[in-house]
Formats: sequence, C-alpha cells, structure tokens
Amino acid sequence: MAQLMKAKIHPTYYPTAQVTCSCGAAFTVGSTKASFQVEICSQCHPFYTGNEKVIDTAGRVEKFNRKRAAAQPKKPAKKAKAAPAAEAEEAVAAEAAPAEETQA
Ligand SMILES: [Zn+2]
Repeated sequence: MAQLMKAKIHPTYYPTAQVTCSCGAAFTVGSTKASFQVEICSQCHPFYTGNEKVIDTAGRVEKFNRKRAAAQPKKPAKKAKAAPAAEAEEAVAAEAAPAEETQA
C-alpha cells in the first residue's frame, strides 16, 4: 500500500497517536499528528454515558479565562463604575425593607 502512495506529498502518519481528553481519558488513534487533546470522548459524552449533563468544555473555560486576563488592565475604569452599583444595591435594600415590614 505504501508503495502505491506517491512519494513526498503525504504527511507523516502516526498509527498510534496519543489522544488525551479533558475528562482524563487517554487512547490512541491513527493520525497525522503525534498527539493532541480533545474536549469530549466516548468515555464522557452523554450519548455514551446515558447521563444528561451540561457539556462545559475545557476549551470554553480556557477561552473565558483568556478573555478575563485580557480585561485586567481596564480595572481602574471599573472602580469608577463601582460607586453607582453600590448605590443601586442600597436602593434595592431600601425597596426590600418595606416588604419585610408588611411580612411582620
Ligand atoms: Zn472524555
């Protein structure tokens, strides 16, 4: 079979490429990459496990953390906005107080 393939046009094939899932499972497949990571596999996908669960993939969490890290330099601007938010909380507390009185 290898003799039928045209030389120098095919990527390197790894018959036992290491696959690591975010759930911790590891297995091998044939691939053109020596090793790679997946977010979901047959060990943890609800279709195979039968459990209904929210699929929160590792990639999304990492993407969210990267966005948060990028947003850090804007902290001083958030402090200026913090004051109106505190006033809003006080307003909510003031609205909640009469409700407590009606209960008592
Ligand atoms: Zn998995």
